[in-house]
Amino acid sequence: MKSQELYTRALKVMPGGVNSPVRAFKSAGLTPPFIKKGSKSHIWDEDGKEYIDYVLSWGPLILGHAHPEVVSVIKKQAELGTSFGACTELEVLMAEKIREALPSIEVVRMVNSGTEATMSAIRLARGYTGRNIIVKFAGCYHGHSDSLLIKAGSGALTFGSPDSAGVTQDTARDTVVSNYNDIDMIRDVFEKHPGDIAAVIVEPVAGNMGTVPPKPEFLQELRSLTKSHGALLIFDEVITGFRVGYEGAQGLYNIVPDITTLGKIIGGGLPVGAYGGKEEIMRRVSPDGPVYQAGTLSGNPLAMAAGYTTLSILSKNPDIYSKLNKKAERLCSGLKDIMDKAGIPVTINRVGSMMTLFFTNSKVYDYASAATSDTACYNIFFKKMLQAGIYLPPSQFETFFVSTAHTDEDIEKTLNIAEDVAKNLSF
Ligand code: PMP
Repeated sequence: MKSQELYTRALKVMPGGVNSPVRAFKSAGLTPPFIKKGSKSHIWDEDGKEYIDYVLSWGPLILGHAHPEVVSVIKKQAELGTSFGACTELEVLMAEKIREALPSIEVVRMVNSGTEATMSAIRLARGYTGRNIIVKFAGCYHGHSDSLLIKAGSGALTFGSPDSAGVTQDTARDTVVSNYNDIDMIRDVFEKHPGDIAAVIVEPVAGNMGTVPPKPEFLQELRSLTKSHGALLIFDEVITGFRVGYEGAQGLYNIVPDITTLGKIIGGGLPVGAYGGKEEIMRRVSPDGPVYQAGTLSGNPLAMAAGYTTLSILSKNPDIYSKLNKKAERLCSGLKDIMDKAGIPVTINRVGSMMTLFFTNSKVYDYASAATSDTACYNIFFKKMLQAGIYLPPSQFETFFVSTAHTDEDIEKTLNIAEDVAKNLSF
């Protein structure tokens, strides 16, 4: 078994054998398959086993693996040079493309990851307002910068370290945590910290405690509270940007944030992030203003080429989103029927082509309700699906994605396998 062999070697030279914790498949107690290649909706591991992939590199691959146009522009750009640390036309094209899609973004800065985007966005919010406190929501994940690793979701939640070691108490003190979808609580937070809140950062559709949609009035309340208290509203659209629609969650729910963070899809599978917003705020960023932020590889030509091509394909084919929604809807309704027939209580949340199957019979609308899920059951489900060739996220608190490359046959095959697995789920 090549994956096993590689994992044994990896464990000796990398923490947990991985470069990002969720890849270790620790909660399921499995050796993670080492992936050799991907094409469309499928991936193959080093032992030749094939999977239908619903992780899609945790969201970026909305066009599936190795999309021919994306691969071709990466090759073409690589031949022209992989990095210059200087200005390129591609950066301008990319910024214009983002601005055209998301009117709340008048000026944008490219970075290399979602973590960098959110970290820079909160520094900017503090620099702009002259205030210290950042408000986030329990179970939302905004990357691993110190200020945001407080009651975080995703791997931090899965591995029981939502408040990371190594974050100083002074840093943690400036991050206030509220509950997702809880309007009364966020009102209280503003009352308790008058004039001190620089920004509220939120995943407008949460994806890191599993998929949790916002109550529309929740986002509206965040908008009006921040506005009336002179604080900024940051939409972390690292997952939702170009995923729940071409105009992101802000288009879907018709809310204009002050700053938006992006990542994943805008890199077309290469490392990328971005933050942008109102011109008046963004002009505070260096070299126009005093908020310093820089990057050797920022606006990297390979990433810009892959991202720009991905966004161009999405913008030229507006029916992509309705087709994605249809496939996701079929997958969710099929899974719900299967679990109902098997007598297994589940709640399925879906917004567009992001979704989560929670093993609970309560509604899931925040961190506490997500945590009512039977994670042991999810682990068994995940493990059996994986063995049968269906690659789902290895934790209950993550999101499944479908791409334009998923076929109806992929979905039906997944449902057939899920039906077999459900029959044998001990509950
Ligand atoms: N924000 C959100 C909403 C995310 O889901 C993630 C990563 N999954 C991040 C920020 C951090 O992005 P990255 O892993 O690229 O640093």
